[in-house]
Amino acid sequence: MRPARFELHRPTSLEDALAFKAVYADEATFHAGGTELLVALKARVLHYEHVIDLKQVPELRSIHTREDGTLVIGALSSHHTIARDPLVCRLLPGYAELSDNVANIRVRVAGTLGGVLCFAEPHADAPTMLCALDARMVLASPERTRTVPSREFHLSEFTTAREENEILVAIEVPPQSGGTRSAYRCFGHTERPAVGVAAVWSSDGPKRLSLWTGAITSTPQRLSATEDAANALKPDLTFQEVWTRLAPVLAAEAASIEAHDDLHGGADYKRHLVSVLAQRAMEACW
Ligand SMILES: Cc1cc2nc3c(=O)[nH]c(=O)nc-3n(C[C@H](O)[C@H](O)[C@H](O)COP(=O)(O)OP(=O)(O)OC[C@H]3O[C@@H](n4cnc5c(N)ncnc54)[C@H](O)[C@@H]3O)c2cc1C
Repeated sequence: MRPARFELHRPTSLEDALAFKAVYADEATFHAGGTELLVALKARVLHYEHVIDLKQVPELRSIHTREDGTLVIGALSSHHTIARDPLVCRLLPGYAELSDNVANIRVRVAGTLGGVLCFAEPHADAPTMLCALDARMVLASPERTRTVPSREFHLSEFTTAREENEILVAIEVPPQSGGTRSAYRCFGHTERPAVGVAAVWSSDGPKRLSLWTGAITSTPQRLSATEDAANALKPDLTFQEVWTRLAPVLAAEAASIEAHDDLHGGADYKRHLVSVLAQRAMEACW
């Protein structure tokens, strides 16, 4: 089916994009790569009189670091661009690898990081990893620019902390210490993940493991009991010794996740996947 008619606007600055939205309000939406939006418009699940294409807004494209080492990824960066970006590959190889495995090449080239975050379909990879990395979302409206922690950005399925008139400008990932490693592992029978687990493990500093799971629930979920157990361990253990201690804690924590049977798998099967994928992600960090 074709989408209902709409007027396409192609602003060339962030200011103009926000101004279009201010004028057309609820009758307008933003378009980035269109991989989710166009499907919904064609199926007539969504309808807008005005579509504001963000592709020519340069402020949304840059990938760079700040002086303090914060990595800034423009919201319009495609998964493909992120996977090949030299800075991301050097500073966050685990995240580059995640981006390289999203969906298929067509979705990776067209689909953007901002799009997957704002659409908030739970079966996605990036939100889980960004929570484990304690990233921040930079949101701009005509009145102000504000920052929301990634851990507070996704509120439920298809719902985020982004206000209707705000554009997600960039994602900021705080600098990781030299001894920090991150990895993401996921599994699914469809193109989207049924379950994903992200681990960020540092061998220096007081806090050592950040462990999150996603796709199994409507928003990413912290595996805090396993984190606490890991952070209480002596630093000189082998991975096998660490895993022997963490496995029962993780299994109990995974068993308590409020999962549901759906097309991606049975609830118990997906809870089991959390343990398997967490072990693999942690071992990859090790
Ligand atoms: C077949 C298929 C398989 C997929 N598999 C995976 C997978 O394995 N893993 C995974 O993580 N994801 C997967 N996805 C999701 C994919 O990552 C997203 O479709 C893509 O990143 C969305 O980006 P987009 O630029 O196309 O968003 P669009 O479709 O352009 O926009 C999506 C929504 O976000 C809003 N939006 C977009 N950018 C902004 C912004 N900067 N500020 C404010 N609002 C904005 C739009 O208004 C719209 O509501 C899959 C998608 C498809 C279609």
